[in-house]
Amino acid sequence: MFKSKEKGLLIVISGPSGAGKGTIVNELLKQEENLWLSISMTSRLPRENEKNGKDYYFVTKQEFEEKINQNELLEYAIVHHNMYYGTPKAHIEEKINKGIDVILEIDIQGALKIKEKIKESIFIFILPPSMEELKKRLINRATESEEKIMERFQTAYNEINHMTKYNYVVINDHIKDAVNKVKSIISAEKCRVDRIEEVYLNSKAEHLHESLIDKEFENKEFAIDKEK
Ligand code: 5GP
Repeated sequence: MFKSKEKGLLIVISGPSGAGKGTIVNELLKQEENLWLSISMTSRLPRENEKNGKDYYFVTKQEFEEKINQNELLEYAIVHHNMYYGTPKAHIEEKINKGIDVILEIDIQGALKIKEKIKESIFIFILPPSMEELKKRLINRATESEEKIMERFQTAYNEINHMTKYNYVVINDHIKDAVNKVKSIISAEKCRVDRIEEVYLNSKAEHLHESLIDKEFENKEFAIDKEK
């Protein structure tokens, strides 16, 4: 009997601030039951609407450095304004082994570290429809000062240069289409030849079913032989 591997996928999603990664991921989580989002840790301050443990685990710089020293992070990077961002190791392996797909929404530096460590991960880059639109989205979001918006815009240009290191690119023009594209990528990845394995039959009913099929096949062959 053939079956797709039971293990979950590790899906890494990156893209510039304002590309809409967060919205896509939230929509995916609503639509797909078998999906778990890893909550990152950061030393940046929470924005007005952000909650500890939901959007990020907000810690001080010192606490973050302790986590690094205790080897509790799968990857980490310094992203905007000397702020640490990192992926806690806890739970990721456990979820994947249980067959749950895990999403990491991280920056390019983190994604490259994951690529070195876990080669079979899937890397998806989210692009805005244009740089003009990206700038508009960053300004409309109004969560940052003008100086920080310009810095994020500059980082966006640098990040887009690394897009080719990813397996897939999704342009977020319309959120519904972008979500459907990511869902299709996940489905296609589950059909990859290297995920298919032959598994042993593990229930009496399955054994019985298989042996009946074998019998039917033998009988047919026998009938054909007789006709000859
Ligand atoms: P923001 O400050 O807008 O929430 O996030 C800034 C950037 O940090 C985004 O590009 C986001 O993908 C990235 N980021 C969030 N969490 C992590 C993480 O755990 N590791 C790394 N390397 N980057 C992260």
